[in-house]
Amino acid sequence: MGQLQYSNDNSTVQTLDARCLTALLRHSPDLVGLLELDGQIRYLSPAAARIFTGSSEAQAFTCDLGLRTIHPDDVDALSAAFSDAAATLGAKIGFNLRATQSDGDIRHISGNFLNLADDPDVSGIALYCNDVTEHVAFVATLYDAQSRFEEAFEHAPIGMALADMSGRFFRINPAMCSMLGYDPDELIGHRFSEFTHPADLTNNNALHDELVTRQRPVYSIEKRYRHANGNYIWCQVNVSVVRDSDGNPLYEIGQLFDISEQRSVAEALEREARYDALTGLAARKLFLEALERTLTDPRQRNSGLAVLFIDLDHFKHVNDTLGHSAGDELLVVGAKRLESVLRATDLACRFGGDEFMVLCPDLESPSDVASLAERIRTVMEQPFRIRNTDVFIGASIGIAIADDASTSSTLVSQADSAAYRAKARGRNRYEVFDDDLRNIISHRLELERGLRFAIDHNELVLAYQPIIATDTNQIKGFEALLRWDRPGHGIVMPMEFLPIAEERDLIIPIGYQVFELACKQLKQWEGCGPNGVTPTVAVNVSARQFSDPDFSDRVEAIITAAGVDPKQLTVELTETTLMDDTAATAAALQRMRTFGISLAIDDFGTGYSSLSYLRKMPVNTVKIDRSFVVDLGGTAADATIVAAVIYLSHALGMSVVAEGVETIDHVQALTALGCDYIQGYYYSRPLMPDVATEFLAQDRTDRRAAA
Ligand code: C2E
Ligand code: MG
Ligand code: MG
Repeated sequence: MGQLQYSNDNSTVQTLDARCLTALLRHSPDLVGLLELDGQIRYLSPAAARIFTGSSEAQAFTCDLGLRTIHPDDVDALSAAFSDAAATLGAKIGFNLRATQSDGDIRHISGNFLNLADDPDVSGIALYCNDVTEHVAFVATLYDAQSRFEEAFEHAPIGMALADMSGRFFRINPAMCSMLGYDPDELIGHRFSEFTHPADLTNNNALHDELVTRQRPVYSIEKRYRHANGNYIWCQVNVSVVRDSDGNPLYEIGQLFDISEQRSVAEALEREARYDALTGLAARKLFLEALERTLTDPRQRNSGLAVLFIDLDHFKHVNDTLGHSAGDELLVVGAKRLESVLRATDLACRFGGDEFMVLCPDLESPSDVASLAERIRTVMEQPFRIRNTDVFIGASIGIAIADDASTSSTLVSQADSAAYRAKARGRNRYEVFDDDLRNIISHRLELERGLRFAIDHNELVLAYQPIIATDTNQIKGFEALLRWDRPGHGIVMPMEFLPIAEERDLIIPIGYQVFELACKQLKQWEGCGPNGVTPTVAVNVSARQFSDPDFSDRVEAIITAAGVDPKQLTVELTETTLMDDTAATAAALQRMRTFGISLAIDDFGTGYSSLSYLRKMPVNTVKIDRSFVVDLGGTAADATIVAAVIYLSHALGMSVVAEGVETIDHVQALTALGCDYIQGYYYSRPLMPDVATEFLAQDRTDRRAAA
């Protein structure tokens, strides 16, 4: 293939002979023609046939035919153009016309008349035309797109702006003007950054730079624009770049949505999460954020920091006796009192329920925080006037002082533990977290870890304490009592690990294991009691266990799987559990009764309830607490109480078990009072399963010592 060659010497343009010229004209897609000054057509090149009729048959083409294809609306303009050209020597007049080809296709033709009357070789008007249909269509599309854009831009319900690549606005639509309250000329020529909230600027500029440097094709940001009235409004802004066909950036186009309403809803929710609705104090979330911030700020951290945990004493009692709204009133007043004794730099928060926390930064010495705690204790000790009643509460306060290893969660739990100790040591006082507490906490952690392991590795076992009928002096059944056979520690008693199991919710899986073990044992003892009767087994259940929504299903499944009769099972519950009026507890109690399980009140007499509550309790058995039995035969008062409990229980159709029976005197006194069953060291301590089985076997053959 030859390459295009340009002659350096353009003076030597060759002249062409007539044949060559004719051939060039024949092949030209453009039309060349020559007209007389009066308009007569002297010559049209063969392209005329293609342009006017769409036919390549140049022979069939006549000038007349060609003229007839011209759109009637364009004829006058064409004539005018010709006349203008004809009037002036050398004049070049352009025109546009439409020609309807034989198949109906309309072509757009652009042409010029050139007056060459003074050129002796021509002496006429030259005509040059070309078919610009495709170009016209292209321009129409562009025009269409442009007008659509204009339409969309001007009438868009969202704000729209065009800006140069430095972010300077050059067009703004009416929606954006009204959104921001400016006239277009107050924005045009200014950069977006001049109207952006200073706090959003760094982020916005970074995104803009990434857009300009093509690291991202578009960006979106939620930012604040300054309204003409000086307020800031939240907008969702989406920005992209318009580029030319080579990909070079031309300008930016931005869309703005006013999201201030959504933001204010979101902010209200956020505020709610950050501030306690009742007291107006910071809520837990805000407090923990502030604590976290203080701990990560080196200046603050080095300047002495303490956290106080404040638990109101006897608050539950106020709620229970005066009602929840009185309780709420007390909390509001309590919060005000708390704030009144804080330093300006302290932050108080309602941590939940009747618990408050205070963050104390900038402490000069530990005595600062001690005197603050003392001030809090003193204001909380003053009577609260609620519903015309003077209510006395007080506060148990725990203090944790930050050291290098402190984190927000260790500080909170240390202050909590210290408050717990303040409660344990008599309430209405403060305690500072110290090494003793540190040891207790690590011991508890170790216990919790060990307990989780125990659950998974069958280290939990049951001891069985016989319950003897006073009339026959024979065994009626056993109470199953939990033991932890902990390797390296021997047998661990329930009081050592149940509190932590309750606190960490481990009591739930433990409770199911207890049911499984007890049912398995019950199955083995089927028919093994006196006279071939199956002994009963009593299982202790705490209120926390009902918080598992699957409780009833699981227990019933365990009993069914073991194949034991639910009637042989008793569930022992404390008075507080029975008094708990939550729906979960009530439903679980009902399910158990319907299933056939007997219910017993454990430790009766130690709870809040009075004898009159007994009739409301859905139980079959009352177990009189050991504390009443201990002094039987001693004070007349205890005997009177025991007698009343027995009398009333019988009247209500309930049987009575006395717990903690240790001496023959107890047995005799209880028998004389008509107590049905006796449980205690006098007969037997809780026994490991095989010993209990032996005890049961002996009971059938060997009569126990008569009381
Ligand atoms: P409880 O249900 O009142 O059990 C009776 C407690 O009194 C048992 O203590 C028993 O060993 C003890 N005891 C029995 N007779 C005498 C006596 O004559 N004198 C004295 N001083 N004490 C006697 P234990 O086994 O230490 O259990 C303590 C508590 O732990 C139980 O009190 C019960 O509330 C709870 N508990 C035990 N096992 C479980 C369980 O499986 N689940 C739940 N939720 N709690 C359990
Ligand atoms: Mg019990
Ligand atoms: Mg008991």
